[in-house]
Amino acid sequence: MLELKHIKKYYHVGDTLTKAQDDVSVAFRQQEFVAILGPSGSGKTTMLNIIGGLDRYDSGDLLINGKSTKDFKDADWDAYRNNSVGFIFQSYNLISHLSIMENVEMGMTLSGVPAAEKKRRAEDALIRIGLKDHMHKNPSQLSGGQMQRVAIARAIANDPEILLADEPTGALDSETSEEIMKLIKDLSRERLVIMVTHNPALAHKYADRVIEFADGKIEHDSNPHVEHEKTDQFKLNHTKMSYFTALRLSFNNIRTKKGRTFLTVFASSIGIIGIAVVLALSNGFQKQINKTQSEAMASMPVTISQTGTDTSAMMTGTSTKTFAKTKQVTAAKSDAEKAQHVNKLTASYLSYINKLPKADAKNIAVTYGTGMNLVRKVDGTYKSVSFSTTNPDSKTINAQAMMAASTGIGGTVYPIDRDGGQSFLKTYYKVIAGKYPTQATDIVLVINKDNTVDINALKNLGFDVSENQKLDFSDLVGTKIQLVANDDYYQKLPTGTYMPSQDLAKVATASGTKTLTISGIIRVRSKNSDGLLASGIAYSAALTKQVLNANADSAIVTAQKAAATNVITGQSMDAATKTAILTSLGGNDTPTSIQIYPTSFKLKDKVLDYLDKYNKGKAKADRVIYTDLAGTVSDMTGGLMDAITYVLVAFAGISLVTSMIMIAIITYTSVLERTKEIGVLKALGARKKDITRVFDAETLILGFGAGVFGIVVAWALTFPINAVLLSVTGLSGVAVLNPVHAIVLVLISTVLTILGGHVPARMAAKKDAAIALRAE
Ligand code: ADP
Ligand code: MG
Repeated sequence: MLELKHIKKYYHVGDTLTKAQDDVSVAFRQQEFVAILGPSGSGKTTMLNIIGGLDRYDSGDLLINGKSTKDFKDADWDAYRNNSVGFIFQSYNLISHLSIMENVEMGMTLSGVPAAEKKRRAEDALIRIGLKDHMHKNPSQLSGGQMQRVAIARAIANDPEILLADEPTGALDSETSEEIMKLIKDLSRERLVIMVTHNPALAHKYADRVIEFADGKIEHDSNPHVEHEKTDQFKLNHTKMSYFTALRLSFNNIRTKKGRTFLTVFASSIGIIGIAVVLALSNGFQKQINKTQSEAMASMPVTISQTGTDTSAMMTGTSTKTFAKTKQVTAAKSDAEKAQHVNKLTASYLSYINKLPKADAKNIAVTYGTGMNLVRKVDGTYKSVSFSTTNPDSKTINAQAMMAASTGIGGTVYPIDRDGGQSFLKTYYKVIAGKYPTQATDIVLVINKDNTVDINALKNLGFDVSENQKLDFSDLVGTKIQLVANDDYYQKLPTGTYMPSQDLAKVATASGTKTLTISGIIRVRSKNSDGLLASGIAYSAALTKQVLNANADSAIVTAQKAAATNVITGQSMDAATKTAILTSLGGNDTPTSIQIYPTSFKLKDKVLDYLDKYNKGKAKADRVIYTDLAGTVSDMTGGLMDAITYVLVAFAGISLVTSMIMIAIITYTSVLERTKEIGVLKALGARKKDITRVFDAETLILGFGAGVFGIVVAWALTFPINAVLLSVTGLSGVAVLNPVHAIVLVLISTVLTILGGHVPARMAAKKDAAIALRAE
């Protein structure tokens, strides 16, 4: 069934040539026990390895069941070793970190035999070789004879047609040797057994046929066989190790080296720890910076007013160093006055502002000077009220001021999101009582950090309070105020002038009247921010817009537009006063100011660019000039933080690379250490890929372990780091490990260590099986 034809295998080492196989031709029967005798170095092992497919011949041919092996691929040899051949070695070559059962099962594991059948066959083999009672021990708990029995069980578990034994009794005492020989003799009744031995007595006692070897040649054959021409009836089952098997093999191996594994994992996790801590810190600092910036921007929005100061005009002011020689005095405008610029806040400018990308400025507040006709029922009777904070008791006779008070100018406009949301209030203000506004008619009461509110704001709302008097939240939340349209509020007198209606109960219930509700009391969130909204009533720009729409075409506005005199007092007035009165009556839709709230300095720069673009190519008079209140605050911190983070990550990255190199070295050592195991796995039919997989699995476990360990340590470190930062800077919770960063770092650690270990793993796979098994 097996035939060697003119097999040659030469070794060239330096100048010497060793003819390990020097034209060997021999044939073996399907079933016989062949013993090979010969002096050391005569080529016995080489022949056995060639027959078993562990080593390749230089020339000649090896025929298996009539099939030439000349064109065998690696995969064919792997399958041949796995399916057809069982190996027994002098030094047993059990894999020490696997159990006896797992050792016996390994060949079947490689060929993918299902677990239950694998177990049954392994048990059968162990019972057959007489180790029934030792099945669940570890190899290290067995005697030499018992270990050799396990090795024999492993060789026959796959029921191979050929059993190859290389000095199987070489390391055993004579009594044990006899037992092993009996066992092998017994096994040879079902298959071809070829055994190398240098014990002629044993050879002659047990073998059916003795071949004597010398200098790579067969000297004598006691029972030669001539193979008939055979038709090729060769079939192979290809082998494949599953990733799971690879993982388990590596895991078991790692388990036997706990101390070293821990040190490896610890050392390679240092890079991960470094990067994780740096990221956690920069995360926290960045958050802090963003918060500070957004608070700064909230109290210092980019503002566009009806008049702006053209700083560029001021710079180019004509300050001269020469004295005038004329004899006159010239009337001139001051530089400051010259810099005064009237902004044309036209409808087209407003629509340009509205097209500002939402991502750059979420909130824009447009303030109009329009007043509101407000009426509130106090103790059963309706009273005229306002949102103003001017003292209602100081009796100014000024007609303009009186009118302002009656129309209810006052209160603060808070910005709403451009899609209608309340992110501004929600971000910077906390509801102390009630709830955030949900519609335009919901108004809020802004109170100071110490819960005080301007007494005039309360008095103007109709609350009869004295200084330092305390009100319950419930007295204020839910307060209803009627907002009356001009046409309901103003009556035309026979004289042609207008005056507020005396029947407030009637106007309060008129059809055009809206009900405003104090939906909540709000207070600024951050201790450090101040003055975003003045204490008192605040309402949204949407409400002003509604008032404007309702009053734009009212009778009093139309009359005031046409008249040269004040339609309320009947007095004459100048153009500026007329505009002021019209504005307060809601007859002027030019905003008094526009506030834009970007949330960071970077976004603010984008907003400013956008505003500058409007002025490009426009005549001086048509330009709109803004005030950048936050412009003086440096935004260097952000960039600096980035730079520091990059440098620190770079350093941590270097340590990551170092640990990767270390993993490579450790894998390489492991490869050297496990050379024998690689040889055994190959003898059992493992493919190159499988060997690579075993080591890749090992580095996968190490890399993943290092990653997880590093993240856990870094996370634990954030606590002392935060404690120190809190005591030094007063900032709490700065270092926060982002879970996404944590996961990515574990992945990086795993991938990098696999990469680092892959080269040695490939080296392991390429190891010559014959040489690997010779290694001690
Ligand atoms: P035996 O098993 O009969 O003692 P071997 O088959 O192991 O002999 O070796 C036969 C000859 O081939 C010896 O001279 C040995 O030194 C040589 N040899 C075996 N393997 C190698 C190798 N990888 N490189 C060089 N020489 C080798
Ligand atoms: Mg030998």
